[in-house]
Amino acid sequence: MTTFPGVDFLELDSELSDEEKLVRRTARQFVDENVIPIIEKHNREATFPIELVPQMAELGFFGANLSGYGCAAMSNVAYGLVMQELERGDSGLRSFVSVQSALVMYPIHAYGSDAQKEKWLPRLQSGKAIGCFGLTEPQFGSNPGGMLSRAVRRGDRYVLNGEKMWITNGSIADLAVIWAKTEDGAVRGFLVERGTPGFSAKDVHGKWSLRASVTSGLTLIDCEIPAVNLLPGATGLEAPLSCLTQARYGIGWGVLGAAMACYHTALDYAKTRKQFGNRPIASHQLVQQKLVWMVTELSKAQLLALHCGRLKDKGRVDFAQISMLKMNNVWMALETARRRHSRRQRHRGRLLHHAPHEQSRIGLHVRGHARHPRADHRRTHHRHPRIRVVPTKKKKTARFSRRKSQAVSKFDILPSRGGRASSSPARVPNGRRDRSP
Ligand SMILES: Cc1cc2nc3c(=O)[nH]c(=O)nc-3n(C[C@H](O)[C@H](O)[C@H](O)COP(=O)(O)OP(=O)(O)OC[C@H]3O[C@@H](n4cnc5c(N)ncnc54)[C@H](O)[C@@H]3O)c2cc1C
Repeated sequence: MTTFPGVDFLELDSELSDEEKLVRRTARQFVDENVIPIIEKHNREATFPIELVPQMAELGFFGANLSGYGCAAMSNVAYGLVMQELERGDSGLRSFVSVQSALVMYPIHAYGSDAQKEKWLPRLQSGKAIGCFGLTEPQFGSNPGGMLSRAVRRGDRYVLNGEKMWITNGSIADLAVIWAKTEDGAVRGFLVERGTPGFSAKDVHGKWSLRASVTSGLTLIDCEIPAVNLLPGATGLEAPLSCLTQARYGIGWGVLGAAMACYHTALDYAKTRKQFGNRPIASHQLVQQKLVWMVTELSKAQLLALHCGRLKDKGRVDFAQISMLKMNNVWMALETARRRHSRRQRHRGRLLHHAPHEQSRIGLHVRGHARHPRADHRRTHHRHPRIRVVPTKKKKTARFSRRKSQAVSKFDILPSRGGRASSSPARVPNGRRDRSP
């Protein structure tokens, strides 16, 4: 088993403490040995590798940057490095750890009562309990303040009604952190245990991204929970938004790993694949340009993540800075995957073992995921249009026929429909046939 060497063009390792490097090495080894060999199967079959949960718990990945209750109290940079390595293996795995840590353990840690912390945090940290976070609803995603879920107090109980959608870990969770509005219109957080009457989960099937991750819809119909399950410190929309800030921080780091895997795969391939004069395609400048773009943007994204991590460790990071981190780094990783993924490679199935999901696993970080399943496919074709050559109608004359061999200027050059190969290869001005795939 070869260990992933990482990508460190700017020697940023010199900025990491020994402890942070040790954490990264541990997570990297875990991914190389336990995730890479099995993840393609899970991706294809759309299953989550739940068998990895106890090991990840043992390694301290859950709630890693929290303190107390068995948590590892790592620095935020170390936590980010764990996210990076996990997402190098698969986005679904990173997503699982993000939800467990940032969206379930964090709100209990930050807003829960002592009894709630003592009951749940050790179980969640040790992987004995799995959590989910229910904020998004079918009608309200980007605008969670419009949520329709309601919680009504009845004596020593709350009665919850509502629907949640796109909930990671929903059907496998022992505990759901549900956000609902109380009678005064305030958004409050509630702990709903698996098996509570009126609470059910149903999985979303047919995703094209984050396939090795469980995504569910939750239904709450007259679901009664003890009033003590209210998170006492969470008294408005700021509470769930603060959880999203924690999760976004992890995503900002995680996508570095996805981009590293893409860059590394592309570089390896370009060094071994030979074309034009039996030279590795890495020796051609158009390929080099892509690789240089990747490593440049990746290095800038690493700097951004490291800086935000250090600010977070000092307690000085602002949610807007974390949004910038996530926005930039997700864009970088998505573009890296697109530049890496040429059609020739895809059609020939020549990419290395974990290639098929590298691209898909990044896609869903771009919110507004309700895209047509073939949207990326179409966009790729749009960005790399095949050239087809059609004669301009008016000029299709005897004179045109006589001179057509030299008359490139009399042709309209258009992207071909749907990116399909035109029936004859395009003619280019120097008379060579375009042999692009
Ligand atoms: C795999 C997966 C896992 C998820 N896990 C969870 C989870 O565990 N818990 C949870 O609560 N949620 C989860 N979500 C939900 C996710 O957070 C929402 O998808 C997200 O909030 C966007 O909401 P929406 O899908 O309803 O998009 P919409 O709100 O319908 O937005 C659609 C598009 O419109 C754009 N848009 C919306 N409003 C504006 C505006 N004002 N200005 C400009 N553009 C706008 C958006 O950017 C987007 O491109 C998950 C989603 C996915 C895909």
